[in-house]
Amino acid sequence: VKAEGRNGWCFFKPEMDEQLQRRLEMEQDLKRALADNQFQLYFQPLLNLDTQEITSFEALLRWHHPVRGMVSPAEFIPVAEESGLIGPLGEWVLKTACNAAATWSQPWRIAVNISPLQFRHKSLPVLVKKALKAAGLPASRLELEITESVLLENEKQNLSILTQIRDMGVRIAMDDFGTGYSSLSYLRAFPFDKIKIDQSFVRDLPHDRDALSIIRAITDMAQSLGVRITAEGVETQAQMDALKELGCHEAQGYLIGRPAPGIEAYCPEVMTVTK
Ligand code: C2E
Ligand code: CA
Ligand code: CA
Ligand code: CA
Repeated sequence: VKAEGRNGWCFFKPEMDEQLQRRLEMEQDLKRALADNQFQLYFQPLLNLDTQEITSFEALLRWHHPVRGMVSPAEFIPVAEESGLIGPLGEWVLKTACNAAATWSQPWRIAVNISPLQFRHKSLPVLVKKALKAAGLPASRLELEITESVLLENEKQNLSILTQIRDMGVRIAMDDFGTGYSSLSYLRAFPFDKIKIDQSFVRDLPHDRDALSIIRAITDMAQSLGVRITAEGVETQAQMDALKELGCHEAQGYLIGRPAPGIEAYCPEVMTVTK
């Protein structure tokens, strides 16, 4: 940290150039990546805490960069969003996820992450309908995960888009619950089927009193609204036990299974749900 001195800012400049350079390069590479089949979906299971059965899988996007290797979605999704590439990329994710779920031997649902920016591009309800139809997948097997930022802008319009999609029979989940400013008020604005408690709350279980009381408040309220609750980032048995105790319906995390390119490990013939 060399911020002192008259020309202190100079020390940061090469670094910023480097960051900008990397970003510009990434944008260029992203444009080619879709045509060159560098994207892949991984799948991570969600476990029903009452029945101990797998209910669904979340599709998580992976980019195999020819030079950099695996790039995290946390890094490239924002670039795709800024460059407008999230439109075609999101469309690819939706199609590929539905196609995959249609081949599964069990009626597990597939959960797909939708960027807030996908609400601005092509008609999302049309894309969803197309993807379901092309895959021959019933709408009830698809779940879309959105964050509250979808409702922060164009609230009216986006609520109407969400309503159209939900009326088709697709479930809508609110992702990263508790990390935003107005999560609670949005639960009244739209009939979400599910909320996913962010992993930052789960991390501090089972001992942290604040985390416990926040999760208890969320589950109490969700219970009375009839919303299902999934906890994300469950890594230990103690966390899972606490979450069940607190009234969470579902858990997702490394304890149950890491994201993987296929779902073979969960097929009934070789059922190995808990490690
Ligand atoms: P997210 O939707 O909150 O997804 C959960 C993230 O937590 C995933 O990171 C997952 O691999 C990770 N995770 C799962 N279990 C555990 C655990 O037990 N411990 C810890 N520490 N982490 C766990 P990933 O795959 O790197 O994705 C990061 C984010 O990128 C996602 O967060 C989502 O916001 C975004 N993303 C991923 N795929 C897509 C996509 O297809 N479209 C869009 N728009 N965004 C995506
Ligand atoms: Ca998600
Ligand atoms: Ca999440
Ligand atoms: Ca997240």
